[in-house]
Amino acid sequence: MEKLLQNIINECYPYIKNGEVATYIPELAKADKNEFGICTASHGEGINGVGDYKKSFTMQSIAKTVILLRALEDKGEEGVRRLVGVEATGKPFDAFNYSDQALKSEHINPMINAGAIALCTLIDGKTYQEKFQRLLDLTRKIAGNPSLDIDEDVYLSEKATGNKNRALTYMLKAYGIINEDAEEVLDCYFRACSIKVTSVDLAKIAFVLANRGMDTLSGKQIFDKNHAKYINAVLMTCGMYDGSGEFAVTVGVPAKSGVGGGIMAVVPGRMGIGIYSPALDSKGNSCAGIKALELLSKELELSIF
Ligand code: GLN
Repeated sequence: MEKLLQNIINECYPYIKNGEVATYIPELAKADKNEFGICTASHGEGINGVGDYKKSFTMQSIAKTVILLRALEDKGEEGVRRLVGVEATGKPFDAFNYSDQALKSEHINPMINAGAIALCTLIDGKTYQEKFQRLLDLTRKIAGNPSLDIDEDVYLSEKATGNKNRALTYMLKAYGIINEDAEEVLDCYFRACSIKVTSVDLAKIAFVLANRGMDTLSGKQIFDKNHAKYINAVLMTCGMYDGSGEFAVTVGVPAKSGVGGGIMAVVPGRMGIGIYSPALDSKGNSCAGIKALELLSKELELSIF
C-alpha cells in the first residue's frame, strides 16, 4: 500500500502548481503549498501513510461532517431535516443566492457554510462553549485521538475576518431559520473549522464512517449506523461543494474537502482516506488531493458505482 501511495504522490505532485493556498482566512495563507501527504486506514492493511501525512492542518469544512453527526446524535434525523435540507446547491460553499425566493431550510444542506452554521444550533449544551466542547469530544472519539484541539491562531484569524459567514448567519436569522445570537453560533462554527488534524486523523474518522459508526479496532459501535448512512449520502452529493458531481464521476466515493487543504474520503465497507495538500482549485478543493483520489480510485476500484 505504501508503495502505491508513494507512486500516487509522485504522479500527482505536478498538480500542486494548478492551485493556490487559501488566503481569505489570513492565517491559512501561511501554509506551504508544496506539502502533500496521504494516509489510508483499511481492513487487513491497517494504517498506511506517506509524504507529509503527519503534518497537521485545520479541518475547515471537513468539520461540517462532525457538526452534522453531533446534530444527528443530539436531535435525530427529523430534527436535522427540519432545519437543513439535503439537496446539492450547485453553488460555492459560501454563496448567498440559494434561490430567488425567500431562504428556506430546504435550500441549504449540511455541507455548505449556511447549513453547518445552522446545525451548530442543534448541538446539545447550555452554552455555546459547552456545545463546542461536545463537538470536540466527539471528534476526538471518532478519530481515536484525545489530544485533538483547535489551532488558536487560525480560529482568531477567521473570527476577525469571517464577515461573509457573519452575513450568512444574519440571513439565517432574517428568514427565521435560526433565532440564536449570531456571534455565539459563529464562534462554535469558527472553532469547529479550526480543529487541527493530520491525514491520519482524517483516515481514521473516514474509516469509522466507512464502517457505519463502528470502530473496528475496539469493536465498539461509536454512533448510530443510520447516521453514518445519512452522512455518507450527504457527502456523496454535497461534500465537494459545486465539484461534487464531477467528483462522483471521477472518484465515486463520499468525501469532504476543506480550505485548509484536507480531503477526507469514505470508501464504504473498505477504507478511510485522509489527504493533505493545501493548493486549492477555484472551488476550494485540493488540486493534487483530488487527482490523488482519482488515481487511487482507479487503481483499487474504489468507486461505489
Ligand atoms: N472556515 C471556512 C469558512 O467558513 C470553511 C470553508 C471551507 O473549508 N470550504 O469559510
